Amino acid sequence: MTYEEIKNMADQYLMPTYAHFNAALVEGKGARLFGPEGESYLDFTAGIGVSSLGYGDEAWAQAVAKQASLLAHTSNLYYNPVVAQAAKLLCEKSGFARVFFANSGAEANECAMKLARKYSFDTYGAGRSTIVTLKNSFHGRTMETLTATGQDELHQYFDPFPPGFRYAAANDLDALKAALDETVCAVMMEPVQGEGGVQPLDADFVHKASELCREKDILLIFDEVQTGVGRTGKLYAWEQFGVRPDVLTSAKGLGGGLPVGACLCVEKLGSVMGPGTHGSTFGGNPIVCAGVCEVLSRMDEALFEQVRQKGEFLRETLSECDEVAEIRGMGLMLGLVLKTKQAKKVASRCVEKGLLVLTAKTLVRLLPPLTISQEELEQGIAILKEVLTEK
Ligand SMILES: *Cc1c(COP(=O)(O)O)cnc(C)c1O
Repeated sequence: MTYEEIKNMADQYLMPTYAHFNAALVEGKGARLFGPEGESYLDFTAGIGVSSLGYGDEAWAQAVAKQASLLAHTSNLYYNPVVAQAAKLLCEKSGFARVFFANSGAEANECAMKLARKYSFDTYGAGRSTIVTLKNSFHGRTMETLTATGQDELHQYFDPFPPGFRYAAANDLDALKAALDETVCAVMMEPVQGEGGVQPLDADFVHKASELCREKDILLIFDEVQTGVGRTGKLYAWEQFGVRPDVLTSAKGLGGGLPVGACLCVEKLGSVMGPGTHGSTFGGNPIVCAGVCEVLSRMDEALFEQVRQKGEFLRETLSECDEVAEIRGMGLMLGLVLKTKQAKKVASRCVEKGLLVLTAKTLVRLLPPLTISQEELEQGIAILKEVLTEK
């Protein structure tokens, strides 16, 4: 099919929920993607932080293909070795005790919020169900996670939104304190707000928030759906802050391109979600878990060091651009604040010149595959610089 044929078919049959860029993608290798008519793009998006190992990774593809021919799916009513291995690897590497596997970031957050309410109900009885999140946060698109998302502009059309949520300004300890009354069971935050504009939280705020939560036995949930799996230069971003949450959610980069969500918890919460309290038909799918095992087996200090170095290189070279006012973020999760240009227009222009970048609010957002090579990085930077200096 040609690009036009693909576009016309998609535009006719898909619900128009996405504003597509003018590109179709059919194949990839490393950090490079190819279109139906031989178009070639450097990829600084990793599919919104998903394709952590880049495209066409051979060990990953083999692990997934092998599991697909061995056994694609069984229900969670039976044990499966790959699921058990993925759980063990994830718990051991992250330092958490137990995990529930779901299929997406939003679902992982659903599990985290259910766990917090159940823990509170088991311990204190009814009436302690409020979940506090931060303004400008993003936690997903289900009714519950959309409500948890602290952005008024997203709280339209779908009334009634479920009750039980309250919002506090990020980095404002007094606001958080005021929000934590006796009805609160959990505080949920992204260590680096992603969709809200690549905004790392203040380390001091995170520390004090964690202390406040501990004093009141309020669970601290980190939504690491975007920051997780090496993205910031550590396996999870909590390590950057030195604050370990009680519950952590992971998704995007975890499957190397396959749909997966994970809700991890510390030992004392390990049995809160007992038989029948939660479940998912596809959660912990063996093919997906084979991908998870491969991704996790590649997560080591050497890779994290490279992520940090590549992030530094991007910062240094891009801060030379007059158009760039500020660069925010951590590791390979970066946001460029622009002086005069519109991020959306920059992103569209980059596509025309063979580079894929994302936006977040008014920022240009970069989330390249963690395995991107120095050469690919330099080629992408050259295109981005060209676009940013265009008259
Ligand atoms: C993307 C994202 C989600 C939602 O993940 P889905 O897989 O799209 O449901 C939740 N939280 C954060 C921080 C995200 O970046």
